[in-house]
Amino acid sequence: MKLKRKKGIIRLFALFMVMVLAFGGCEKKVESVESEGDDITEITQPPVTSEIPQMTEAPKVTEEPKVTEAPEVTETPQPDMYGEYDLDALFGPEQEDRSGGKGTTQYIGHNLIETEYAILDPADGVVLTQEDIELVDFVCKTMEEATGLSFLDAKYYKDIKVTFHIYDSVPAGSADNFGKAIDIDKSCLQGDGLLLMVHELVHILQFTSVYTGSFPFYAEGHADYWTFKIAEYILDNDIEGLVELVDVEREYSKWEDVYGNVDITRIYEKNIYEWMDQGCYFAFAESWPAYIYGRFFFIYLEDVYGDANAFLPIYARIPYAATRLDWDAGIAGRKYMDMEPLIKMMKVAYSEDVFDNFYPWMKEHEELFEPFQ
Ligand SMILES: [Zn+2]
Repeated sequence: MKLKRKKGIIRLFALFMVMVLAFGGCEKKVESVESEGDDITEITQPPVTSEIPQMTEAPKVTEEPKVTEAPEVTETPQPDMYGEYDLDALFGPEQEDRSGGKGTTQYIGHNLIETEYAILDPADGVVLTQEDIELVDFVCKTMEEATGLSFLDAKYYKDIKVTFHIYDSVPAGSADNFGKAIDIDKSCLQGDGLLLMVHELVHILQFTSVYTGSFPFYAEGHADYWTFKIAEYILDNDIEGLVELVDVEREYSKWEDVYGNVDITRIYEKNIYEWMDQGCYFAFAESWPAYIYGRFFFIYLEDVYGDANAFLPIYARIPYAATRLDWDAGIAGRKYMDMEPLIKMMKVAYSEDVFDNFYPWMKEHEELFEPFQ
């Protein structure tokens, strides 16, 4: 035992000597790194902190050699950076001129009524009460509060009021492609269909933020996500004048009409990229899955990433042509000009695995589907 231990000690000593010889410069290197670090903090501290306040934190970290990289990064101006991504490099420069998106409004009636947020354009024969008229601005203001988005002070379309074409019998609402007008039934101002009007107005909020919103999986998913959130906001805050008009049950029931007994878990039959490439259109239900799955996607984004609107500033960078529908391809086969920027957009806004994590999340939250089954 003793002999073995002696031998062991000798071996250890020999090994130690080898290490000293091999890494003789090590101590020196450490010194030089430390002195580099010191030099840099001495040199950069006063000028850099005067330009960029964040650098005041640098001296605390200078004990670690990594900090020597910091000055290089902070010298670069970052107006077009989104996290680690360079938006210019990914999507091209931001478009300054969006005038091409401003469509013209054709009025359907002869009695235009201007409010703070809107130009009301009732069809001839449709009579609006003072209550109806006041409701429009009240709904718009409430939507701004609930969503954090803006009609009048938006990124695009500043000072442009939304035209409300109001009919006495249209079965569904619609928003025009350039965020200038919605078509609604008069009943939307009287409770029966309020959330339908809210849905169309969310499209207007999208247009004011991103210039184009014609990609169903995002546009409809985002619109319906916010429709339900706004309904919740009205109910939770017991907003007098609106709470009486909100009927979430009826909004859910519209999905029953469309789906019947269709198994909503059919989404798992294809991967999410395939669905998006087809605009999430199913042969059996036309465009509706884009609404419902899109909505779940935004619930997922809020649940996991805490922000259902984070993609909007990046969406604004994508050229209109890249998101335009191919209307000639038929409803089941509609393709889009290019899915890549839209996929990249979501990855930049949330995370690289934002799509890969969606189905696992859905499987964990299948109770959310129950009102739709
Ligand atoms: Zn819609």
